[in-house]
Amino acid sequence: MAYSYEAPVSQTLFDRASLVTPGGVNSPVRAFRAVGGTPRFMVSGTGPYLTDADGREYVDLVCSWGPMILGHSHPAVIEAVQAAVARGTSFGTPGEGEVALAEEIVSRIEPVEQVRLVSSGTEATMSAIRLARGFTGRAKVVKFAGCYHGHVDALLAAAGSGVATFGLPDTPGVTGAQTGDTIVLPYNDLEAVHEAFRAHPGEIACVITEASPGNMGVVPPGPGFNEGLRAACAKNGALYISDEVMTGFRTSKAGWYGIDGVAPDLMTFGKVMGGGFPAAAFGGRKDVMAHLAPAGPVYQAGTLSGNPVATAAGLAQLRLLDDAAYEKVDAVSAEIQSLVTDALTKEGVAHRLQTAGNMFSVFFTGSQVRSYEDAKKQESFRFTAFFHSMLAQGVYLPPSAFESWFVSTAHDERAIERITAALPAAARAAAEATEVPA
Ligand code: PLP
Repeated sequence: MAYSYEAPVSQTLFDRASLVTPGGVNSPVRAFRAVGGTPRFMVSGTGPYLTDADGREYVDLVCSWGPMILGHSHPAVIEAVQAAVARGTSFGTPGEGEVALAEEIVSRIEPVEQVRLVSSGTEATMSAIRLARGFTGRAKVVKFAGCYHGHVDALLAAAGSGVATFGLPDTPGVTGAQTGDTIVLPYNDLEAVHEAFRAHPGEIACVITEASPGNMGVVPPGPGFNEGLRAACAKNGALYISDEVMTGFRTSKAGWYGIDGVAPDLMTFGKVMGGGFPAAAFGGRKDVMAHLAPAGPVYQAGTLSGNPVATAAGLAQLRLLDDAAYEKVDAVSAEIQSLVTDALTKEGVAHRLQTAGNMFSVFFTGSQVRSYEDAKKQESFRFTAFFHSMLAQGVYLPPSAFESWFVSTAHDERAIERITAALPAAARAAAEATEVPA
């Protein structure tokens, strides 16, 4: 289907970008390949709004894929960043900002006794896996199909997010040796986990899971699933790694741990804790973290780790995220969820709206989605029509049916009115959509 509304300046920028950058983007899902059309090049963001290079304003339901939980250009975050920049941008030495950010994380999340700062979620999960292997002296890693943990070689087996969007079973460039110790299991299938431990006694270093997956769309853990993983790891001498890069500091003050209370051995964080800058972390049990260099033998490092501007932004954002802020995000999310469901129901569109705290996504299917296999059965062509109708009406959704939607404390009545006004036509477009033959 062709989408005729125009974005000439974005298109010109995309053409320029495509000459000098593969696919015209620096992260695949931004290219709109799953939905078609011209990716919008954004020039500014304020509160719940983004403005593109053609001067059109959108209500933003992506929030930079999670980080912007206070909305764009929050005055307190901007002020903290400006003050930090004025003092210098990187020293390559320890600094107080890193200590304060680590203290904030440790104080919020009980199982995290010590934390190491890095610059991306990918680095966090890669380092956590290395540490788990170094600590246990074992090689194998269990992950779940549809869970995305960044573009770590060993974890790019049946990953979600961009990998799900493009339907790649794996990626060229990752060798069999790199994924040879990765065991991929269906999500929400505890029996498969027990079977893997039986099949590989004393060989599994860790089980890594998204605390509540958001990278195949939102597919929360079924009752007892995370508890079962915790118990299976403890019984078999493996570490339980909960990836909270997406859920951390978003679904509650203590992320998904604050909701289900299942204590992991190691956890990974990113997104919200960086306040829109590259800052991420991994942390957990002190006796495990003690194996990390320079305290222990497992090497890990980073030129810009704990960067003073990034830590200032993250700290400013976290300090504003009190109980009232989470109540606001939860309430906005619930309101949008019910508006979306009502609009789709009214048009008779089969769908499942799935939630994990204030994260949610819509699957265009009549059945509950508990795994990546289930997620792939949805009618994504209906999402494409829905997405473009919303975009044309000034609402920016994630450009893929396999991603979570994100809201912020800044989503106000005006933003919700804009969404409310756009939904009937988008739901109709979804109802009328037909599958384009391959
Ligand atoms: N883990 C999860 C659960 C994520 O959602 C992501 C990114 O979306 C990552 C890890 C990787 O983080 P980054 O993109 O910062 O490398």
